[in-house]
Amino acid sequence: MIYFDNASSTKPSQKCLDVFNEISSNSYANPNSIHKLGMKNYTEINRAKLKIIRDIGLDNNYDIIFNSGATESNNLAILGYCRRNKNRGNHVITSSIEHESVLNVFKQLEKEGFSVTYLKVDSSGNIDLDELKNSISKNTILVSVMASNNEVGTVLDVNGITSIVKEFPKCVFHSDCAQAFGKIKLNYKNFDMFTISAHKIYGLKGIGALIKKKTINLDPIIYGGGQENGLRSGTMDYPAICSFQTAIHMVFEDLDVNFKKVKLVSDYLKKELNLMEEIKLNTDEKLNPYIVSFSLLKKKASVVVEALSNKEIYVSSVSACNSRKEEPSYVLLALGESETASHNSIRVSLGKSNTLEEAKEFVIELKNILNIIRG
Ligand code: PMP
Repeated sequence: MIYFDNASSTKPSQKCLDVFNEISSNSYANPNSIHKLGMKNYTEINRAKLKIIRDIGLDNNYDIIFNSGATESNNLAILGYCRRNKNRGNHVITSSIEHESVLNVFKQLEKEGFSVTYLKVDSSGNIDLDELKNSISKNTILVSVMASNNEVGTVLDVNGITSIVKEFPKCVFHSDCAQAFGKIKLNYKNFDMFTISAHKIYGLKGIGALIKKKTINLDPIIYGGGQENGLRSGTMDYPAICSFQTAIHMVFEDLDVNFKKVKLVSDYLKKELNLMEEIKLNTDEKLNPYIVSFSLLKKKASVVVEALSNKEIYVSSVSACNSRKEEPSYVLLALGESETASHNSIRVSLGKSNTLEEAKEFVIELKNILNIIRG
């Protein structure tokens, strides 16, 4: 089989599974219990936090709040910040190609009385920094723009955004880094808050984190026993946290090696797909090599994805979160693509274990399928 759906979820590495199993079997005490076993686990969680902060090049001005994944982190960052700081202003800014776990939170904020600017993007998925400059004001309290898009792989200009946002002391910058973290180089000091998720980097599903400057105050979105400084109540998942820390350590250690391997496969795919008449690439050279998106101009993407799946080749139409819906991709529409192209896009998303041989087989099978099926 060929697994080309790594942006949806990656295969957990054996080391992450081993860490999870070992700690689950042997260190199951609740980290918030005040006996020796609980206190030991609590100390280990704090140690894991320090290791993560160090691995990603930050210092002790940052805090980690562990939770269930990127969806929850985005909710906590955006809702938590805006609800807590609504006395400072009621304008917020995001981009029109954010993941739904960001866009739908902004929709909720509109209902709560906030005014939201959705920045347009160009045909590569980049925002216009001048539009940001013109939109931001003393009344803006939050800008949230993703580091890399999950559907087409655009790497957004977070350095440019930071330099604009920092001119507005009341405004903070949050970034959904779920697809960029551990894959492309970022300066995490650019962000006041950012979102990460373990299952995108060969860790387990159900664990993620919001990393934020300690000076930033949030309201919780979950209420209960007050764990994680009151920001994420619920028993802390010590085994999953340590497994996540292992995943982070591994991807940061191997970031350059993995990037080179993936770029080789990605470049080959783009070159071959570009030569195919019925296909339009939605991805250009500057983008995140982990994602190759293309639209079928004459065939239905869902039919081709199914035909590939029958050959045990696994890709997504649109992104996994949206592929069960019949609607066109809002990301491709925002990039200015036609309704047809936006309905019929396929996303190949690569991981560190994918090979050039797999890419070659994929191209052969795709050509066969496009020849066989009717438009
Ligand atoms: N943001 C982005 C950019 C994503 O790609 C995803 C996963 N599709 C999410 C958020 C949601 O991640 P999780 O599954 O960890 O909630």
